[in-house]
Amino acid sequence: MTDFHLLIADWYRLNFRELPWRNTKNPYFIWLSEIIMQQTRIEQGTAYYLKFIHAYPTVFDLAKATEEDVLNNWQGLGYYSRARNLHYSANYIVDELNGEFPSTYDEILKLKGVGSYTAAAIASFAFNERKAVVDGNVYRFLSRLFDISTPIDSTQGKKEFQLIADELIERAVPEIHNQAMMEIGSVICAPNPKCEECPVNIHCLARKNDTIDQRPVKTKKTKVRDRYFHYLIYSFDGKTIITKRTKKDIWQNMYQFPLIETSSNEIPAHIENRVQFSSEPQKHILSHQRIYARFHHIEGEPKTAEKDFISIQESDIQDYPLPRIIDRYLENL
Ligand code: SF4
Repeated sequence: MTDFHLLIADWYRLNFRELPWRNTKNPYFIWLSEIIMQQTRIEQGTAYYLKFIHAYPTVFDLAKATEEDVLNNWQGLGYYSRARNLHYSANYIVDELNGEFPSTYDEILKLKGVGSYTAAAIASFAFNERKAVVDGNVYRFLSRLFDISTPIDSTQGKKEFQLIADELIERAVPEIHNQAMMEIGSVICAPNPKCEECPVNIHCLARKNDTIDQRPVKTKKTKVRDRYFHYLIYSFDGKTIITKRTKKDIWQNMYQFPLIETSSNEIPAHIENRVQFSSEPQKHILSHQRIYARFHHIEGEPKTAEKDFISIQESDIQDYPLPRIIDRYLENL
């Protein structure tokens, strides 16, 4: 397949989507965009990317912001550990590297929250390093192109796909090649592929063997845990109570109404007679957890003041970083 890199590069030059982070070689901006875009739709991610480069135009600005401020700006995007890692790594770059963004794949990989995929993306886009990017879209594209049945989530599969991707980038311009692979994987070789528009369809083995629907192969099914959250919304003198999630768990360092976690959607018996109104369970799906949250409205103050309770004006609630499930509930109230 000697012409492969030329075919995809030509296709990319004619078809690429204009995205704000594609016009820059600034590794800090590219890093922000890559972290923000993980598990995020382009439209949603673009708004957050613009918000972040406006709020923190340099790595120094991000480093000197408080974690709370960063979480606040991240609110609604989910997977909050990404925001915490960004903030942590910005401080590492400023304190340990004199604010100089690392410029090689190996050095970029040392940043917290950066895996091989993101490091390859930054190294190739910002520094034109010859490192093949293999994200979920590229896995799908390659598995079909070469009709590979090795599971993409196995150790063997990861090695095999990386090897193929590294061979394909050998003679290409790294930045264009990686962008093209990701873009074709995303918009052409999508779960429902547009094979007629595919620039390499004549080379596609899965198409030839009629196995497109069976590629890629995966072994593991992610175990998903159900959790039942009961939030207590106290209301007294225009005030309410919030707490900070300090434990090592989802949404760490964000704020919430006092929470009781149980094993069902039933209103906890000991609060039942104080509750004026309870919402229906609100479902929120994370990668490994399904959260069912109910909001119980209570007129008056808590009977006992726990030491982590923070009394605030109800109208100030949006000043605090809140998990999306709470934010959404308040929006619809
Ligand atoms: S021909 Fe179809 S299945 Fe094959 S790589 Fe192209 S889009 Fe994917």
